[in-house]
Amino acid sequence: MSEKIEVLITEEQLDKRISEIAEEINRDFGSEDITLVCVLKGGVMFMTDIAKKLKQKVEFEFIDVSSYGNSTVSSGKLTINKALETSIEGKNVILLEDIVDTGRTLSYLIEYLKEKNPNSLKLCTLLDKPSRRVVDVKADYIGFTIQDAFIVGYGLDYAQKYRNLPYIGILHLDEE
Ligand code: 5GP
Repeated sequence: MSEKIEVLITEEQLDKRISEIAEEINRDFGSEDITLVCVLKGGVMFMTDIAKKLKQKVEFEFIDVSSYGNSTVSSGKLTINKALETSIEGKNVILLEDIVDTGRTLSYLIEYLKEKNPNSLKLCTLLDKPSRRVVDVKADYIGFTIQDAFIVGYGLDYAQKYRNLPYIGILHLDEE
C-alpha cells in the first residue's frame, strides 16, 4: 500500500484564510478577553497560528476526546482523555477544532463546555465536511468547506503521521 498526498489547501491559502477568520473574531470580540480551547491533537497548528493574529488577551486551554471502543466504527460515544485545567466560568470561550466530520465530537464538546458556564461559547473549525454530518451542528467560524475525503497535514494525521505538513492534503491509499 503506498500513501500519496494531493495538495488541497496550500500554506499561503491557509495563512490568508486564517487571517480573515482572526479579523472576524477581532471584530466580534473587540477588547474582550478570549479563552481558546484547542481540541488535541489536530487543532494545535491552527490554534498557534490564529492566536498570533488575535488582538485580545488570549488564554490557552486544551482538551482531548476520543470514541469508546473500536476506532473503525464510530459509536458516537465519546470520552474525555484530557480535561480542561482551569475554570472557564464567565469566560468568552472559542472552541477550536481541526475538522468537523459527523459532528459528534463538536456536539459532545458543546454540551461539556456549556455545563461549565462560560459567558459565551463560539465554535471555530478550520475544515468542515458537511456532507458527512450525522449530528446537526454548525460552527460559527469555518475556514474551508471541503468535499468528503480523508485529509492530512497542518495538525491532521494518518496513524499519527503527516501532522507536521505545512499544507492540507488529501490522502490516497493506493494498492501496489
Ligand atoms: P466528528 O466527531 O465530527 O466525526 O470527527 C471529528 C474528528 O474526527 C476530528 O477532530 C478528527 O480528529 C477526525 N477526523 C474527521 N475527519 C478527518 C479527516 O479527514 N482526516 C483526519 N486526519 N481526521 C479526521
